[in-house]
Amino acid sequence: MCKICHLENRAHRAQLSRRGLLRFFGTVTAGVVLTGTADAKEMKAPPKPQNVVSPDAALELLMDGNERYVDGISRRHDFKHEREALVGGQNPYAGILSCADSRIAPEYAFDSGRGDLFVCRVAGNFANSDTIASMEYAVAMLSTPLIMVLGHDSCGAVSATSKSLKDNTTLPGHLPSLVKSITPAVNAVAGKPGDLLDNAIRQNVIDNVAKLKTATPILSEAVEQRKLKVVGGIYKLRNGRIDMIVW
Ligand SMILES: [Zn+2]
Repeated sequence: MCKICHLENRAHRAQLSRRGLLRFFGTVTAGVVLTGTADAKEMKAPPKPQNVVSPDAALELLMDGNERYVDGISRRHDFKHEREALVGGQNPYAGILSCADSRIAPEYAFDSGRGDLFVCRVAGNFANSDTIASMEYAVAMLSTPLIMVLGHDSCGAVSATSKSLKDNTTLPGHLPSLVKSITPAVNAVAGKPGDLLDNAIRQNVIDNVAKLKTATPILSEAVEQRKLKVVGGIYKLRNGRIDMIVW
């Protein structure tokens, strides 16, 4: 296939996937950039115009919010008026894939309001089909320009995976499914210098940033078109600071 046909096919596939999402989810709720009159008619003004930002500006918003949170000067949020403004739609400036650990709470950690963050949480903050699909929705339908994979120190899910592999035991219930998803990161750092758990937590973030970036066709193409950045950070339990490790 010649390069032009290849690019046209990809553009067509991307258009189809957006149309498919539109059919599935109904009317566009925020400033999604689509071509064609039919799609344009379905656009509505974003409820939070201040959230229509570049990927780099979105990262700055996150990190400024984290600084306020660390310093103990989080903003007071007027949830009553925010609720009312968001009845008709949403345009979050960042998607966060974080651990389910009760101490993390991305909305607090980034001092954000309602409608600012599109958050998926699972113990061990790994990307699977469901979390990738959720982020696809955020990017394709809500024009979210940034995704952050957010790990944290002393992660119980990574620690349990590491212990299960070391002792060669099978955890009860559905936990083996979680272990399976985190195992590649633990194996990748085996025998490396430094603390095994810290290294595995870090590797798990790096791996899942790569997984989201290369998830075809929606996320990978948004990255290629520079409409989306996928970054990774680690939340420190002691002071709440988020250290960027992939950006
Ligand atoms: Zn955790």
